[in-house]
Amino acid sequence: MGAPLPEAPLDVLMRLWCQECGRPSSPEAKGWRLYRTDIPEEDNEPTLAAYCAVCSYVEFGTSSSEHTESD
Ligand SMILES: [Zn+2]
Repeated sequence: MGAPLPEAPLDVLMRLWCQECGRPSSPEAKGWRLYRTDIPEEDNEPTLAAYCAVCSYVEFGTSSSEHTESD
């Protein structure tokens, strides 16, 4: 029982790669964000895109928890 163990070291498997600039995350992946990129009713499997702290800010701005009351 159980899934076969992958051959790559866990450290590599757990590492994220920025979708935008292509750099790998640190083990902590501090500030990184994952976004779903699949279309729920069209794609069979959910896919995630990782963005580093810099690129997620550039692409998506500040997090929703930090939004300002500008309206
Ligand atoms: Zn990046």
